[in-house]
Amino acid sequence: MDSPSSSSVIIVGAGVSGLSAAKVLIENGVEDVVILEASDRIGGRIRKQDFGGVSVELGAGWIVGVGGRELNPVLDLALKSNLRTIFSDYSNARYNIYDRSGKIFPRGLVEETYKKEVESAVQKLQKLKKLEAGGGDFSNVTEPPTTQKTPIELAIDFTLHDFEMPEVEPISTFLDYGEREFLVADERGYEHMLYKMAEDVLFTSEGKLLDSRLKFNKVPESHPSHDSKLDLGQVVRELQHSRSGVTVMTEDGCVFQANYMILSVSIGVLQSNLIAFNPPLPRWKTEAIQKCDVIVYTKIFLKFPYKFWPCGPGQEFFLYAHERRGYYTFWQLAANLLPCHQHMENAYPGSNMLVVTLTNGESKRVEAQSDKETLNEAMAALKDMFGPDIPEAADILVPRWWNNRFQRGSYSNYPMISDNQFVHDIKNPVGRLFFTGEHTSEKFSGYVHGGHLAGIETGKALLEEMEKEKERTSESENQAFLLEPLLALTGSLSLTQNDAVSSLKCDIPKRSYLSGKVGIAELCYD
Ligand SMILES: Cc1cc2nc3c(=O)[nH]c(=O)nc-3n(C[C@H](O)[C@H](O)[C@H](O)COP(=O)(O)OP(=O)(O)OC[C@H]3O[C@@H](n4cnc5c(N)ncnc54)[C@H](O)[C@@H]3O)c2cc1C
Repeated sequence: MDSPSSSSVIIVGAGVSGLSAAKVLIENGVEDVVILEASDRIGGRIRKQDFGGVSVELGAGWIVGVGGRELNPVLDLALKSNLRTIFSDYSNARYNIYDRSGKIFPRGLVEETYKKEVESAVQKLQKLKKLEAGGGDFSNVTEPPTTQKTPIELAIDFTLHDFEMPEVEPISTFLDYGEREFLVADERGYEHMLYKMAEDVLFTSEGKLLDSRLKFNKVPESHPSHDSKLDLGQVVRELQHSRSGVTVMTEDGCVFQANYMILSVSIGVLQSNLIAFNPPLPRWKTEAIQKCDVIVYTKIFLKFPYKFWPCGPGQEFFLYAHERRGYYTFWQLAANLLPCHQHMENAYPGSNMLVVTLTNGESKRVEAQSDKETLNEAMAALKDMFGPDIPEAADILVPRWWNNRFQRGSYSNYPMISDNQFVHDIKNPVGRLFFTGEHTSEKFSGYVHGGHLAGIETGKALLEEMEKEKERTSESENQAFLLEPLLALTGSLSLTQNDAVSSLKCDIPKRSYLSGKVGIAELCYD
């Protein structure tokens, strides 16, 4: 085996958080970073794929939080990289709710049901908060309601709770950045923004990232010249960490060493056994990791020979009210194509695509079955809504975020009632291991901007720690230098300067990230 490659910092994962952390470090003079990415691409959960002749976003599709008192940093990046986005208005979705006989529910009933569902959600939250304040047991309050809901209630409940709820109330994204959402509608994909960001600090040529510090499979598996023996993705499988540094072993037997590590893998990966920690992570860390929920959110793309669904302003989204909660409920006209928008129609004429969103249990269920079965189910739902004569879909794309071992889900969801300790434990470092990723963002977990800001914050925290370590090292060297005459007098002349330095090292206190004292290795974790 070659001798291990050594650097100041290893970053595991080249999603938005890992790349943002790398940028902070490199811009501040820490040039010798190594980024290990398991897959054949950067971007992680920001991921486009060609389908039906266009490029679709399998992962993040929206910039959430626009139009508020502050500029969403991801919108800022998007503007700087000339990413094309369009305003996305969900507010009309609830007026296009179809029952199983193809009838649209009347507005009055929709308004009434919507109001009732919102009120019941608010009451539940208030009840939880009261119970929490009183130190009560609130486990049964979070259980699904026992009373049978009607299909329309289930459809509205689904869009209120499962569809897009990666944050706990109050929703900081909306408070800080505004309540509007912009859909990325760019053939280069959302990931173009990341390439542009990475370009500032990593070497690129002809639009490709060629920097040797970024280690991933540079030839996509689908490409004819792909040789799995030559240029493997760097799947981290074991992580040894101590007071003096970290060592990483990858699946293909490479070894990397560094003074510090930033781990940006998802909460789902941390909950899985993909990476072995040696010594194991302390209990406060593993408990926080296990406590965090993972949402599975799946956008299924269907390509048709022609459009058979209604088009026009306010009809970009429609719901299917079924007696099974979350069963092919939320539909939209193809994510980055929106043929009903005049300007998009001109850009991508005739995409003829629909997207249906499934979550959690339903996502896992369809991941486990064949795409043909999923296609049949989706077609049956569409026939209920639009009649038996609609054309068969020509193709289907079913992303599998849950079964992807480098993701194990779509995004984190903090427990409804999460105390400060939980939030701190999720992100606090363990000795020389720093944790980042959307799940470590106290205010914006779940979102692209959460990942981006978490990466920046972790990068800065590590810089601070490196500075402190430098100060500690020079202090102990000075002390050793001052001690030399004393040691000579006491006859300990055989003691070398290094021995003197190491004998002076004191036990360093337990880390305290949030108080601004980013600490160093703990000997005893629990
Ligand atoms: C379907 C879907 C829809 C979404 N929609 C939106 C949206 O509209 N708007 C929004 O703001 N957010 C959305 N999100 C969430 C958003 O995509 C994420 O919050 C964000 O991209 C997470 O970035 P990250 O850097 O924390 O993690 P990731 O992007 O997951 O990066 C982690 C990286 O680590 C790599 N990795 C994992 N294990 C290993 C290993 N053992 N060794 C080496 N590398 C490893 C992974 O391959 C990955 O590249 C969505 C996510 C999904 C899946």
